[in-house]
Amino acid sequence: MEKKLQDQIAIVTGASSGIGAGCARALAGAGATVVINYPAARSKEKVSKVADGIVAEGGKAIIYQADVSKEDEVVKMFTDVTAQFGTVDILVNNAGLQRDAKLVDMTIDQWNEVIGINLTGQFLCAREAIKEFLRRGVDETKSKAAGKIICMSSVHEVIPWAGHVNYAASKGGVMMMMKTIAQEYAPHKIRVNSIAPGAIATPINHEAWDTPEDLQKLLKLVPQKRIGQVEDIGKVAVFLASDDSDYINGTTIFVDGGMTLYPGFEDNG
Ligand code: NAD
Repeated sequence: MEKKLQDQIAIVTGASSGIGAGCARALAGAGATVVINYPAARSKEKVSKVADGIVAEGGKAIIYQADVSKEDEVVKMFTDVTAQFGTVDILVNNAGLQRDAKLVDMTIDQWNEVIGINLTGQFLCAREAIKEFLRRGVDETKSKAAGKIICMSSVHEVIPWAGHVNYAASKGGVMMMMKTIAQEYAPHKIRVNSIAPGAIATPINHEAWDTPEDLQKLLKLVPQKRIGQVEDIGKVAVFLASDDSDYINGTTIFVDGGMTLYPGFEDNG
């Protein structure tokens, strides 16, 4: 089988679980060497399992601890990875979390933590990745692009979400950050795009699908009537990282089973 990402180095942030782990497995399956980033709060044993699984399948992966919201840790991660592997070709800006509350009850800490990881964390990683892409330029033996960034957004970059103002604002911010960086660096053959997942079964939202009643309620929001799996996202990450998407830049691919199609109008509104 053709390995579309052969010899490319990919950093996937927040890759010890859920969508990040799914993207790491998919990129490794396509031939990339994957750096599985995780924050200090994660148990190293759990993170190693993701890397071990990839290696057992014949892929290449290492783990790297860094908090994406901390500038010094992000800079060090890119410096260390570049020193170890020579460069970075792909960044999947995936790390994210929710700290939910009604607006009137939301603390400044809840606001700052979500913006700090979901938006500032993506900015910091994108900045360091772009610096490395500019330094190296295009290496035609690997890709037509000087580098690729995939931002993990959400359907909430366009769907408002009561009780989650910090999260929705962070993803709306990711959308304009992604488009602006794409516009700024397209002349350098750098591609920046987003994936906007709908409801994907991961630890972030397990309370929305772990009982049959909760799942039925959730599926009312999904015209395709199934919850997404991390593999649904991993495949799109490989596409956006590969030259198959060489003319796609500054766009968001919604992977949501139709969640953004106003499902309330499904039966004539
Ligand atoms: P998850 O909780 O399994 O994954 C989030 C990951 O981010 C975890 O591995 C966590 O350790 C990591 N992380 C948190 N803070 C970090 C930090 N400071 N530094 C580095 N890593 C950190 O949940 P998930 O669903 O896989 O979420 C992944 C991304 O997908 C998030 O950006 C989320 O907003 C987005 N998303 C998920 C869904 C869904 O339905 N699951 C839908 C839309 C968007």
